[in-house]
Amino acid sequence: MVLIVEHKATFCRICEPLCGMIATVEDGRLVALRPDKAHPLSAGFACPKGIAFSDVVNDEGRVTTPLRRGPDGFEPVDWDTALDDIAARLAAIHRRDGSGAIGWYFGNPAAFSYSHLLAVFPFVKGLGRRTHLFTSCSQDTSNRLLASQLLYGAPLSVPIPDLPRTELLIMMGSNPVVSHGSFLTTPRIKDRMSDIVKRGGRVVIVDPRRTETAAALEGPELMVGLDLYVNETTAHCDYVLPVTTMYERDDFALVFQNFQTTPFRQASEAVVAPYGQCRSEWDIIAGLTGRLWRRTPMLAVLANRVGGVNVNRLNSTDIADIEPLAGMSRLSGVPVRVEPA
Ligand code: SF4
Repeated sequence: MVLIVEHKATFCRICEPLCGMIATVEDGRLVALRPDKAHPLSAGFACPKGIAFSDVVNDEGRVTTPLRRGPDGFEPVDWDTALDDIAARLAAIHRRDGSGAIGWYFGNPAAFSYSHLLAVFPFVKGLGRRTHLFTSCSQDTSNRLLASQLLYGAPLSVPIPDLPRTELLIMMGSNPVVSHGSFLTTPRIKDRMSDIVKRGGRVVIVDPRRTETAAALEGPELMVGLDLYVNETTAHCDYVLPVTTMYERDDFALVFQNFQTTPFRQASEAVVAPYGQCRSEWDIIAGLTGRLWRRTPMLAVLANRVGGVNVNRLNSTDIADIEPLAGMSRLSGVPVRVEPA
């Protein structure tokens, strides 16, 4: 039997630099990741976390089938069973308590996924104007977004330093050598800061005083986790739904087009097919939209427009197709393109 080995250009979506990667795929399995030396900006750089992500993709502990929590722990169920029950319970909560009783949280993996973002905004806000949408920004950068809202009228109008031409860089409360830059998309940020000093400029770091806040939270009535693992958080969920990793989906880091010091565009095809029963988040959201469309006019419009199943799905990672999306910097959530059901 002949082993088919492919080397596919893609990029890391763990954090803002979006480092170029070469994925080694053997017979449809992602076996290794290495930095892409030919990438025009990251130029062969990738951190250990990004390179080790093939271990996450192949981790035996990963959730690859929907799990339902029962009295004796989690048990596998099929997708229709999970989505039907989640939609029915969500509809009951919506009917009884209104849209303010419903919230969605997403972290970095979603922020770097155009399809997740374009699906979740209309779905959550389609359920009603009182729904809650939380992101990792709600935890660590809400002050920056609020400042932009107050100064410029839009939270995502974030000023980006012109690093290649900066003479004095003052950073308060950030540590980009470790974080690789937050809310700033610039591969090799350590080199870019060194360049400022080499040009005769200055880089000034102001360390923040660290504080910690403990919060006691009351558990929600229905909690659904879209995750790679059963972890300390998702262990409390009623369902854990298996999602694709970044290498099992096509992608374009839509929202981060606003935060680049040197503008660039990169899109990637999926380098391997979804493992197990894993689905992309947009697909799961579409499944819920198709089951909940009677709840609000907005969801009915969405379900009707897309045949009740597939929403917000780009057919292509061609830059010519994707480029118009970059203009949607306010993330209006309006579906840009749909597939027939
Ligand atoms: S710096 Fe961020 S984007 Fe680059 S390889 Fe590491 S985790 Fe991935």
